[in-house]
Amino acid sequence: MVSNFMSIGVNRPGERKQKAAEAQQLNYFRGRVALCAILRALGMGQGDTVAIQAFTCVAVPEAILASGASPVYIDIGLNSVNMDADDLARKITSTTKAIVVQHTYGIPADMAPLLNVATLHGVPIIEDCCHTFSSTYEGQRVGSFGVASFYSYEWGKPIVAGIGGSAVADDPKVKRIMLETFGSYEAAPFVSELRNNVQYLAYRMFYQPRFYWPVRSLFRKLSKVSIFKGSYNPVDANSVPHDFSSRMLKSTERRLMGAVQLGEDFARLSELLAECYQQNLKSAAVRFLDIPRNSNATYVRFPFLSNDKGSVLEKARKNSVEIADWYNTPVHPLQEDEWHRVKYRRGWCPEAEKRTAEILTLPIHKLVNKRFLQKVLDCLS
Ligand SMILES: *Cc1c(COP(=O)(O)O)cnc(C)c1O
Repeated sequence: MVSNFMSIGVNRPGERKQKAAEAQQLNYFRGRVALCAILRALGMGQGDTVAIQAFTCVAVPEAILASGASPVYIDIGLNSVNMDADDLARKITSTTKAIVVQHTYGIPADMAPLLNVATLHGVPIIEDCCHTFSSTYEGQRVGSFGVASFYSYEWGKPIVAGIGGSAVADDPKVKRIMLETFGSYEAAPFVSELRNNVQYLAYRMFYQPRFYWPVRSLFRKLSKVSIFKGSYNPVDANSVPHDFSSRMLKSTERRLMGAVQLGEDFARLSELLAECYQQNLKSAAVRFLDIPRNSNATYVRFPFLSNDKGSVLEKARKNSVEIADWYNTPVHPLQEDEWHRVKYRRGWCPEAEKRTAEILTLPIHKLVNKRFLQKVLDCLS
């Protein structure tokens, strides 16, 4: 069954390239499963590599490993959280079969130089739009630059509908193969539906900025005893979890159908709050990230850089202020002793490693108010 929920990852009328009628969103168990499906359609196999940026989520290398290929890490730019085209040009080889371009926090990657490198080497680009579906670059919506794009709907993403993800293929061949193989993806087990609903309900009831720290610690405890689904389940090419052949949970799909409005509301709130954060943080000793010229970011969280990340977080935790630390490792949430699982080594991407030590993010949430802003400023002083 193919869902016709087509408003995500589709350009607005008048925008270049994609016409709504041609876009077809395929719904998978998670965002990483959608990425893996795209990679499978591109024909990944043993010895193939996929270029991704360091300063990413473990879901991305996990999907690459599940497809049979291996990740190669590209550094991010100076004062940026997105892929650096020069480092891509240095590291791209004849084994590189795809490039995953991530629009981190909703900041569009600088597409022009990345597209140049990709075109020169004839390597397809896949866009990771898990943090945004509405940011634009040169007036064109993210998700419409590559052969395909993928999305996620779990906690912490712009549209929250539960565990789940989707893919939109733009390239006719990739699209055809994905449609042909979609039928082989199975329904997830019923117990997953239950868990998904409990988790979603808990999210709706408890997620607000002042509950951030206690809920986070509770979530981590529950993930350990596997009541909740955490974001980390290690994969290797010899034992691909069943998740990677499952389609989206019915409960997530149902909620997603009604989520178009939610997405638009979120984009508007994000624009408003980003402006407000920027104004209010000007006086604090923090730096902002560059965004490419002629681009517009719909932030999933508002990021800034501090030379004092550790003590800011300590104050935030003490005062129960939602200032988040991700990504605090180049492959979040893996700590150094686990990096080998996803084939990352210290020193490979110095900028990404540096950013993990200085990045902080603020929530895009309707309960953000003056009092919250004051508390944030107190943590920064
Ligand atoms: C959340 C996320 C994913 C994948 O999400 P899942 O649905 O958990 O598989 C991929 N990339 C980025 C950058 C993400 O934040």
